[in-house]
Amino acid sequence: MLPDKGLSLAELQAEMRKYRNHDLAWREGRSWSLMYYVDEEHQRKIEAAYQAFFSENFVSPLAFESLRRMEREVVQWSAELMHAPDDYAGMLTAGGTESIFLAVLAARQRAHKRGIRRPELVLPRTGHPAFTKAADLLGLKVRILPVDNGQCARADLLPQYVNRHTAMMVASAPSYPHGILDPVSDLAAYAKKRGIPCHVDACVGGFMLPWVEELGYPLNSWDFRVPGVTSISADLHKFGYAAKGCSVLLYSDSSLMDQQFYVRTDWPGGIYATGGLLGTRPGGTVAAAWASIKGLGREGFLATATSNMKAFADLRQKLIAIPEIEIIGHPCMNILAYRTAQNNPDLFIIADQLEQKGWQVDRQHKPLSIHLTLMQHNQAMVNQYITDLKEALAYAKKHPEASGQGQAAMYGLMARLPGKKLVGNQVRDVMRNWYGATAAKAEREETMSTPGWMAQLNRLLLKLGSWRKN
Ligand SMILES: *Cc1c(COP(=O)(O)O)cnc(C)c1O
Repeated sequence: MLPDKGLSLAELQAEMRKYRNHDLAWREGRSWSLMYYVDEEHQRKIEAAYQAFFSENFVSPLAFESLRRMEREVVQWSAELMHAPDDYAGMLTAGGTESIFLAVLAARQRAHKRGIRRPELVLPRTGHPAFTKAADLLGLKVRILPVDNGQCARADLLPQYVNRHTAMMVASAPSYPHGILDPVSDLAAYAKKRGIPCHVDACVGGFMLPWVEELGYPLNSWDFRVPGVTSISADLHKFGYAAKGCSVLLYSDSSLMDQQFYVRTDWPGGIYATGGLLGTRPGGTVAAAWASIKGLGREGFLATATSNMKAFADLRQKLIAIPEIEIIGHPCMNILAYRTAQNNPDLFIIADQLEQKGWQVDRQHKPLSIHLTLMQHNQAMVNQYITDLKEALAYAKKHPEASGQGQAAMYGLMARLPGKKLVGNQVRDVMRNWYGATAAKAEREETMSTPGWMAQLNRLLLKLGSWRKN
């Protein structure tokens, strides 16, 4: 409720602390996603930069030369890191989704200009939903390229998926769910041969893989050194350790980027032009990205990568040493997904057990697996995680009946549903509730904790209970 009298800063802070009670306690290192973090000193740097440019509006680069300069420097440095050719072009965006949207937009406009009326996008199965979202919004048909058992895109199948309507091809470097690097060279070579733009989605890997390479880990080429790569998206707010709301989009030359610009000259408000999707743009995110790269420097990035890759190798070995556990494919950086062979014992029981032990678990499907991104704040928790995982495994072996109980039952059911339409509709219901006025009221009355949507999905489980027995 809007108070009659405005609250003091101290009162606001007290309220915020209260609101935060049920939030993810990520600093404890018990979650393996969402947060990209170096240390408190780095945090202070990016927070100070964000605050310094908190009020500026970057919709007009003309008004704030400082921000324009910072953007240019971050883009320049990213281009160097990813070996962009001399006549590259690029900008900072609000995040991976905006970068990807713009890359798809540029490819669509290019296709239209070449007379392709019904443009298509070829996306590996593991490619990020930001691509299908962009394709939906921009009217492209998506062709899903299958992946092999190691969750790596099948370049050998391209002739079946690429045709004269193809406006863009995508490779992930790496894919988010399993940390698998697609065969960028093969995909881009094929794209080049057919004269099709090839976008490399390095949203998660763009600011990590260069250090992985420098540290001597085996890594296939993925950046602008690969012939045929025409654009790359890389998130500063992931392994660039910047504030949330910043990604870079790079093109191998400016002619493709031109296609994403928006210019209107007849508006009564004057000439209006934007490089990306947003109008008003925060200055803070740009300043924080700039402070992040300058604040870390090469040494900082390398040191962070070194310790994360070391801890990751340790985690990986300890997982492999557990007979029932297998890692999916060959992760190229500190992201992996693991599963049990033939889902025996049931991974969902293991997930429930891990949650009971206080871990945040990212369940994935197709194939069933658990996702782990190892960050600085997880390093000290690796041994505890392995101990708890072993216990969870032992429990799951002893209690196979638990797959019919609790969340394991619900997730198991969802995984087995032949079509996902029901689940999709249920998720839409949950969102309608989040954003609708009735739910806002309910939330005021009882402080809602995270499993609110869980309860709703559980109701679905009950509805479908009879189906499950078949
Ligand atoms: C995070 C991510 C995205 C989307 O980026 P947002 O910043 O969440 O919009 C796209 N692709 C990959 C591989 C990602 O990891």
